Amino acid sequence: MLPFLTDQWGNPSSIYSFGNEVARRLEDARTKVAALINADPSEVVFTSCGTESNNAALNSALMTNPGKRRVITTAVEHSSNIKFCELLRKRDYDVTFLPVEPDGSIDLHLLDKSITRDTGIVSVMYANNETGVIFPIEEVASICRSHGLLCHTDAVQAAGKLKIDVQSLGVSFLSLSAHKFHAPKGIGLLYVNRRARFQPYVVGGRQEKDRRGGTENVPYIIGMGRAAELALESLPEERTRVRSLRDRLEDGILKTIANTSRNGAKEERLPNTTNIAFDGVEAEAILMLLDQLDICASSGSACKSGSLDPSHVLAAMGVPLARSRGSIRFSLGIYNTDADVDYLLEHLPPVIAKLRRASPAKDLKSAPNTSAIRARPGAHKPGPAKPMAV
Ligand code: PLP
Repeated sequence: MLPFLTDQWGNPSSIYSFGNEVARRLEDARTKVAALINADPSEVVFTSCGTESNNAALNSALMTNPGKRRVITTAVEHSSNIKFCELLRKRDYDVTFLPVEPDGSIDLHLLDKSITRDTGIVSVMYANNETGVIFPIEEVASICRSHGLLCHTDAVQAAGKLKIDVQSLGVSFLSLSAHKFHAPKGIGLLYVNRRARFQPYVVGGRQEKDRRGGTENVPYIIGMGRAAELALESLPEERTRVRSLRDRLEDGILKTIANTSRNGAKEERLPNTTNIAFDGVEAEAILMLLDQLDICASSGSACKSGSLDPSHVLAAMGVPLARSRGSIRFSLGIYNTDADVDYLLEHLPPVIAKLRRASPAKDLKSAPNTSAIRARPGAHKPGPAKPMAV
C-alpha cells in the first residue's frame, strides 16, 4: 500500500499516464479479489465497506424492479441489513424477517413459502457474525432462481475462512468487507453477477463502470488485493489449525467452567468462531476483566459494543435474556497460537469464578476443577493484542 500513499498518488480516472499506471494496479487488485470468490473481475465493484455493499445490493434490487416492494431476509442479519430493512419499512416497503431455529439455522421450506409475487430480493447472510453459524446459500439461491428472484448474501464473515465460489453459489450479489481478511478497515466490495441489472447506490462520477460514484480509495484497494491473495493461501490453515484451536478453546471452556453452553450449531459453523454463554455473569464484566489480561473478545458484534441491548441474534434463536447477557464471542485467526489458547483457558476460569462470587446468582454450582486453575507464575503472557478477524 505504501507506494500508493507516497509516490504513486495519481488518480486512476485521469487521462495522464501517471494516473494510468495507478489504474492498471487497481485492476490488478480487482483481479486478485475476484479470485477470492471465483468471480470475473468485471463483476467486482469496490465500495467503502460491507455496510455499503449490503445497502447497495438491496437498493439496486428494489430500484431496478419498481413493482416489487418486498424484501425477505433473516432475523439474524448484521445491523447493516436489518437497519436498512427497517428504513425500507418506513418507506412503505414490506420486509419479512425469517425466524431461525434454536441452533441459529434457517428453515428453507419456510423461506420458499414466504416468497410472494411482490418480492424483489432475498438476502440471507453466508455466516453469522455472532455465532459463526453457516447458512446454505447454494440452496437459498436455487430457491430464488426457481422463483426468478434476485438473491444477495452478506459473506462478510465468511471471506478468508471458507472457500467462496460465486459460480457454484449462484447468487446475484455478494458483499465482502476487507478487514475481515486482514486488509485495512474501510474498504469492501460488492459482487454483481454480470446478468443482474444494477443501479448504483452512491451516485456521482462514472467510476466502477457507473456502478459506484466517487474516486477510488486506491491504497486500500491495493491492500485488499494483496490481503485477498494471502487469504486464499491461508484458507487450508483456517480449516485445520484455526479450527482445532477453536475446538480446543471451546471444549476447554465447556469442560472446566460449570454452567456454560455454546450458542449455535456445532458443525455448520465458521472454523474460527465460538459463542459461549456463562450463566450468572454479565458479558461486559467478563470482557473488562479479560481486557486487563490482554485478551480481546466481544459480546455480540463490534458494531454494537457500547450498547447494552441484548443480542438480536441470540434473541431470535430463543436464548433467554439472562443467558444472552452472559454470552461472549471468541474469534480466532491465523495469528493465534496454542499458547494463546492455553493462556485463555488458564485465566478465564478464575475470572468467571470471581464474577460469580460477586454476582447475586450465587446458587450456580462451580465446576469441581474451576478453583484448581490458577495463573501460573511466568505463564504465557501475550504481547500486544494480535490482529484477529472480528
Ligand atoms: N456484515 C457482517 C456479517 C459483519 O460482521 C459486518 C461487520 O462486522 C458487516 C456486515 C459490516 O461491515 P463493515 O463494518 O465493513 O461495514
